[in-house]
Amino acid sequence: MQGGRIMKEDVVIGLEVHIQLMTKAKMFCHCSTDYIGKEPNTNTCPVCLGLPGSLPVLNKKVLEFAVRTALALNCKINQISRFHRKNYFYPDLPKAYQISQYDLPLGVGGYMEISLPESDEKRRIGITRVHIEEDAGKLIHEGDIASSSYSLVDYNRCGIPLAEIVTEPDFRSPEETRIFLIKLRSIVQHLGVCDGNMEEGSMRCDANVSVRPAKSKSLGTKAEVKNMNSFRAVKKALQFEVDRQKKLLSEGEKVIQETRHWDELKNITVSMRSKEEAHDYRYFPEPDLLPLQVDSKMIEETRRNLPELPEARKERFIKVYQIPEYDAEILTSSKALGDYYEKASYLYSNAKILSNWIMGELMRYLNEEKLDIENSPISPNNLVGMLKLMDKGAISGKMAKNVFEKMFKTRKDASQIVEESGITQITDEDELFEVIDKVIKENPRSIEDFNKGKEKALNYLVGQVMRYTKGRAKPDFVFKALKQRIKKGL
Ligand SMILES: [Zn+2]
Repeated sequence: MQGGRIMKEDVVIGLEVHIQLMTKAKMFCHCSTDYIGKEPNTNTCPVCLGLPGSLPVLNKKVLEFAVRTALALNCKINQISRFHRKNYFYPDLPKAYQISQYDLPLGVGGYMEISLPESDEKRRIGITRVHIEEDAGKLIHEGDIASSSYSLVDYNRCGIPLAEIVTEPDFRSPEETRIFLIKLRSIVQHLGVCDGNMEEGSMRCDANVSVRPAKSKSLGTKAEVKNMNSFRAVKKALQFEVDRQKKLLSEGEKVIQETRHWDELKNITVSMRSKEEAHDYRYFPEPDLLPLQVDSKMIEETRRNLPELPEARKERFIKVYQIPEYDAEILTSSKALGDYYEKASYLYSNAKILSNWIMGELMRYLNEEKLDIENSPISPNNLVGMLKLMDKGAISGKMAKNVFEKMFKTRKDASQIVEESGITQITDEDELFEVIDKVIKENPRSIEDFNKGKEKALNYLVGQVMRYTKGRAKPDFVFKALKQRIKKGL
């Protein structure tokens, strides 16, 4: 640490994650939730615009999706929960209150286990609560929020159902929150309740960060960090915030309780406003809705019908495909990636080679092009097609990388690329011997060196054969053939 006295601190982080539930209709009306790319303010009605005299009616699917989410996070379901009005004025909230849940949320007391790869440790993160609430509309600022001369409002998102997942302050590093969020995304994707797209805002995360002297029981003053819209941003923003607070404390200053905004361009958090407390919202029970009742039959039925979740899928991958835990963890980190792997493995038996190609080349190209696996230009079928060409010896491992790149760029299948570009391995031995003999004839000095015991001379000759064949010869075959022919004095 620069300057200040050396201090040991613990980092304490808790998360609040909002997920957009993928129901067809909004939470309390029949308006469609399919709003991306739609004309502003077209998916609206008196209910979601909060016009006088309109009444909300809960969409049953919202409850079903939320119960599924809460159960997958090992929560206890409150058979009677309650809606509250959370009052605040904001231009994107036409009612000037949001229907949410407060003292009696739908799910409580759950947990999720995460694996920390560096320490081989498993950590249990407490889930304080899972509740449901409606989303607000969207403000569109001309330029950025601070300097914009006007803002427009679009109410299409108003009334979209959200589940809010609040964790205990159980995280001890920003990296742990990243691991948690990736797993949470995979869980909600497997449940079919949310697509988990942070960049598009269907999964949003706020974090409470504080720092305290090591081993201290009481918590330090926390700051809330908002506006992080990727896993990477979460880790970066929280690391910045942890360092900022540690520096303040080491200089003998105090952390102020406030809400801070992550500025993605400047890579800093900036103060937005002093943090509001629950009483600022004047919560009161929603008079237009009855208490929310969930009977035990529905809970049990939902529990029974939960799909296979990422943890179980990971265990199955390890057992059935015999791949390392590390591979299985990555391959189940999103539902679509797991599906891709499984589709490919129906067609191809070497599960490890498959996972190597998917986790290596495929993920690398997808990351470079910022594409999701769902939009991969190479289908599982085409990937397997290429691997089979490699197994047959038609292309070498090195050529395969080249073919793979072309497949990714052109969306063509491997055999077509091989045919069009002529990049096949020479399997005809006579053709190869012709080149080998030519190289032997042209390099008498190297032959002499080799005969004197300089094994290295052979490498040069192999290189010459590869040059003449433009890399299409099998190096191990050439090596053996050269050795034999020189020894025989041919
Ligand atoms: Zn509506």
